[in-house]
Amino acid sequence: MRDKLVEFKNVSFRYGAEHPWVLKNCSFEIYKNEAMAIIGHNGSGKSTIAKLMNGLLFPQEGEIIINGRTVTRESIWEIRRDVGMVFQNPDNQFVGTTVQDDVAFGMENRGIPRSDMVKRIDEALSAVGMQEYQLTEPHKLSGGQKQRVAIAGVLAIFPNVLILDEATAMLDPKGRTEIMKTVTDVQAQRNLSLITITHDLHEVVQAERVIVMNEGEIWDEAAPRDIFAKKAELRQIGLDVPFIAILSDELRKAGLPVANEALN
Ligand code: ADP
Repeated sequence: MRDKLVEFKNVSFRYGAEHPWVLKNCSFEIYKNEAMAIIGHNGSGKSTIAKLMNGLLFPQEGEIIINGRTVTRESIWEIRRDVGMVFQNPDNQFVGTTVQDDVAFGMENRGIPRSDMVKRIDEALSAVGMQEYQLTEPHKLSGGQKQRVAIAGVLAIFPNVLILDEATAMLDPKGRTEIMKTVTDVQAQRNLSLITITHDLHEVVQAERVIVMNEGEIWDEAAPRDIFAKKAELRQIGLDVPFIAILSDELRKAGLPVANEALN
């Protein structure tokens, strides 16, 4: 059996007593080294799940366990060594004046000894193909390069879970492809659990398992191919099935080979 790394047990959350519940009794598990996607229309509760996973928010009901530890106000710094997050807007994630300062910042926050930092910066930037930009000022980078540096900042902490919360949403197609390739590579190198949060069904094609959120509830949980098979129902909850999935389905029905393994 695979080791559990993330566990949500009957989690409900609202942004204060005067607000409606935005997560309702959600339970799911994510395993070590698994590539998982969380998909849903805007406002379905995806970002709230991400924030609950690294202690930016705490549930009013239920329990969240990361790597055997319950997320509480007392455990958040240990949790944040395990869970790294990359957000949508690359420009909001930079604090350093150079790329290397920026990667160092997250480590300083988590008390990683200075003697380890140089090696970790080098390794993390190599993993995302940005080692020659160590002394570059972040504002000179493209959107895709900025997100690769943000991923390096997270990798330098050696997390067990990498969460990408709409991390490609503001990028052009080239930047998007760069990021998708980078995360696939780093996941393989570092044995990470990868959680891709998105409203775009294209990004779930590479996932082993997909959780579909709707109105704060888990609507379905299955392999991409089984999710895509529910085209009409997905449309009803505001999600469009990508052309590649429709094409693969048609090819399969016609008895022809499907090139993309994830859809086969
Ligand atoms: P998603 O990531 O799927 O777009 P979110 O988790 O951001 O969804 O939001 C879920 C619901 O919570 C939405 O209805 C949103 O308006 C509400 N919400 C998000 N942040 C806040 C907040 N800080 N205060 C009150 N409501 C919020």
